[in-house]
Amino acid sequence: MENIIGCNGAPTTIAVTGGKISAIGADARNAGPTEIVDGAGRLLLPGLVDGHIHLDKTLIGLPFIPHIPGDTVAKRIAAERELRRTVSLPVTARGAALIAQIAAMGTVAVRSHVDIDTEAKLSGLEAVLSLKQSHGHLIDIQTVAFPQSGIIRDPGTAELLDAAIEAGADLVGGLDPAGIDNDISGHLDVIFAIAGKHGVGIDLHLHDGGALGAFELRQIAERTIALGLEGKVAVSHAFCLGELSDSDFARTAALLAKANIAIMTNGPGPVPMPPVKRLQAEGVRIFAGSDNIRDAWSPFGNGDLIERAGIICDRQDFRADADLALAFSLVTAASGAVLGRGAPLTIGAAADFLLVRAGSLAEAVAGRDRDRIVYKAGRKIAEAGQLV
Ligand SMILES: [Zn+2]
Repeated sequence: MENIIGCNGAPTTIAVTGGKISAIGADARNAGPTEIVDGAGRLLLPGLVDGHIHLDKTLIGLPFIPHIPGDTVAKRIAAERELRRTVSLPVTARGAALIAQIAAMGTVAVRSHVDIDTEAKLSGLEAVLSLKQSHGHLIDIQTVAFPQSGIIRDPGTAELLDAAIEAGADLVGGLDPAGIDNDISGHLDVIFAIAGKHGVGIDLHLHDGGALGAFELRQIAERTIALGLEGKVAVSHAFCLGELSDSDFARTAALLAKANIAIMTNGPGPVPMPPVKRLQAEGVRIFAGSDNIRDAWSPFGNGDLIERAGIICDRQDFRADADLALAFSLVTAASGAVLGRGAPLTIGAAADFLLVRAGSLAEAVAGRDRDRIVYKAGRKIAEAGQLV
């Protein structure tokens, strides 16, 4: 493919062989292509990687369902379980509708948390694992066995989480060890035991705020180091990092960096959020994802990760070109690294990329133009917001 503009603003050429990038830059023209595609002067961007999504929860594909309010995590869990019993469309159909929507916008890989509880058991996971097979040509799916209803307060869940890993989930999840289970050690004992037993990573939802949340983060970091799981553990949300004293922030960030724990943010609404640059300055990895998209937790969200990068810019007061590029990296290189993908747009990497109408990366983030051409494994899968 020629006549495209690289992220650095310079014209470039990209060669694809067997679904992978075989050459990039001026010499790619000499790679002996059998077919030459004209990029029409569009900007080349890496495929978008959603570090946190819930394919099983979405209500996309159904008529709009009004949001049921709930002012605590526990109330929302109860409301969601009630709603789940009445939804007629199966997870496979709703998840497929969401995949079609996000793939058309340029998402090439996701980490999907999937509810595991004593009512749903492994049904949601089985549905998402079938989507992983049926939709692999559009998107790569990693799954987290997520105890949405808690572990200690929902006896039997620990065994189900273990079974979920046996059934093919890639990571074990967790949820507010204090706020939901009121048993930090008990909750962490279960998920770290499963991670150790199966050699899988962890990605835990942590909404618990302030000093309590920071204490839990340090507990997670210490256990990560003790078990040699550095680099395999992520904590999603970690709102508490946005509301700590300088000294608490410093000691918590230092432990997170030592344990190589990655923090996921979606640039949430009116709650504190992890400070992106401060964490990076302390050596803490940070990545981003959509989280809830049109489900019992939020009527909003569309899965557009370029829009998500813009939302993070708004929350962090990012305006300079370099800041917009930083936000974009959270939904591409950084999220990709957490999902175990190599550096994007490099030789040997999957030929997963977008061509957009923008003169620079900053303009692409600011403009959020939906007229994107999406390539997955070197094959054009979408154009102008529609799958082809
Ligand atoms: Zn989530």
